[in-house]
Amino acid sequence: MIINQVAVIGAGQMGSGIAQVAAQAGCQVRLYDAEAERITKALTGIEKQLASGIVKGKWTQEQAEQASVRIVAAGSLQEAAEGVDLVIEAIIESMPAKKTLLAQLDHLAQAHTILASNTSSLPVTELASVTSRPERVIGMHFMNPVPVMKLIEVIRGLRTSNDTYTSVAELAERMGKTALEVRDFPGFVSNRILMPMINEAVYTLYEGVASIEAIDGVMRLGMNHPMGPLALADLIGLDTCLAIMETLHDGFGDSKYRPCPLLRSYVHAGWLGRKSGRGFYTYEGG
Ligand code: NAD
Repeated sequence: MIINQVAVIGAGQMGSGIAQVAAQAGCQVRLYDAEAERITKALTGIEKQLASGIVKGKWTQEQAEQASVRIVAAGSLQEAAEGVDLVIEAIIESMPAKKTLLAQLDHLAQAHTILASNTSSLPVTELASVTSRPERVIGMHFMNPVPVMKLIEVIRGLRTSNDTYTSVAELAERMGKTALEVRDFPGFVSNRILMPMINEAVYTLYEGVASIEAIDGVMRLGMNHPMGPLALADLIGLDTCLAIMETLHDGFGDSKYRPCPLLRSYVHAGWLGRKSGRGFYTYEGG
């Protein structure tokens, strides 16, 4: 199937980026969020991104305008899901929340619709189990920031069909991304490797080994990482980091994945990183 009509559910930092790249790939996009003001904020953010791409010479004004008109706000989940070829959910990283949503989408979407999850770590086979179409459920793990990063980690659940995989991989290519296929294990490949490093950086801070700036500086200057792990955690969202560590801990039952208590405290304090204006660093204006 060639995917032309896409719904994106969840208009946070990932959902807005996904809506943008889908529109730039020529798809008609409907964007829905449980909180209406998130959609407005996302649409404004996408306009800014598209305008800055013109200035940087990444695309023309005409291309930006065409992409912009392809994205519309949906007033309800039903309006978003009706008649589309693909739904990509990018709501919070919570198994119960995603299962509830997928069960609703299974009910609302046409039989041919593929249901994709942008989950960072949750088992796709389990997400698919609440639907009547496990062969058309797949993980489409975009990287942050979506318009910049080239990878989509594509996760096949145990029952995901070849047709579903090929349709999604073809769309990834139209988006200018590289799809890499991985099996359905906790954290997949990306976060099984990345998140324990971030968690260890938080432990290093917690144990007073070095300051935030020094920990990030060691990894930037010593390992040539473009960002330090604590700055990256702030970019990802500390709530998302904690949820991923909990999935790794539960999924493997191995204490090496235990989330750092300091990470948990920050999340309880509402210090979620850039999106809340404070994490390990503070961000002027939120
Ligand atoms: P976010 O907090 O920025 O956005 C989540 C959005 O989902 C919010 O706008 C919220 O209002 C909305 N939402 C929550 N429940 C909903 C529901 N039931 N129906 C509709 N909307 C709902 O989070 P994010 O960083 O964009 O992450 C979203 C997903 O993407 C998570 O599964 C996360 O693990 C994954 N992801 C995140 C990153 C990252 O770096 N942040 C990278 C890859 C994947």
